[in-house]
Amino acid sequence: MAGYSKLRERMVADQIARRGVTSKLVLDAMRNVPRERFLPKGQGILAYDDSPLPIGKGQTISQPYVVAYMTESLALKGGERVLEIGTGSGYAAAVLAEIAAEVYTIERIERLATMASAVLDDLGYDNVHVQHSDGTLGWPEHAPFDGIVVAAGSSKVPAALKRQLKKGGHLVIPIGKNKWYQELVRVTRVAEDEFETEELLPVRFVPLVGEEG
Ligand code: SAH
Repeated sequence: MAGYSKLRERMVADQIARRGVTSKLVLDAMRNVPRERFLPKGQGILAYDDSPLPIGKGQTISQPYVVAYMTESLALKGGERVLEIGTGSGYAAAVLAEIAAEVYTIERIERLATMASAVLDDLGYDNVHVQHSDGTLGWPEHAPFDGIVVAAGSSKVPAALKRQLKKGGHLVIPIGKNKWYQELVRVTRVAEDEFETEELLPVRFVPLVGEEG
């Protein structure tokens, strides 16, 4: 819809480029994904607000800037295999799928996994693979991954995810002791048994709930 594409252009300029995201791949991805399609019916009008929004089951679709920032933090060049934990609405998976070759995304709430999968299919994202399971264990069948994004807050980096990261790959995850406030952290696998950690940005995510969360 013309109205939405104008709002989306403005969102990219005002919320994302203005805050310092410069990757053309990421800015183009944010221009292409119709965020209104990932919201509950009747809420499309809110899609380009500068905030997270409720998607049911106590969960949220992330703020557009945070999705762009996390995606840029993976430093993708195109063509990679990426794992996302916390599909939620499927929006961030679609953004990743604009850049990566294959996106594997895991959601622990079955209803959300089913809904996200339907929207992604409908929009033609056949390079996104949604699984309903506990993402803290990763997706070993498709490992290793060039990049891993965790879209829920954890007290630590799940060990299984570190194991499933390719050498040179980045993993971004909100880490915090407090349930509702975290620091976005980027972990880079520099060698088989060597990981580097950087703190990037204060964030607020719903909690990661699972065996290793
Ligand atoms: N990326 C999403 C936002 C996700 S919100 C989007 O763009 O809409 C975080 C999601 O993580 C929630 O849907 C929550 O159910 C899910 N989650 C929490 N713990 C999880 C786990 N252990 N495995 C998989 N999903 C999990």
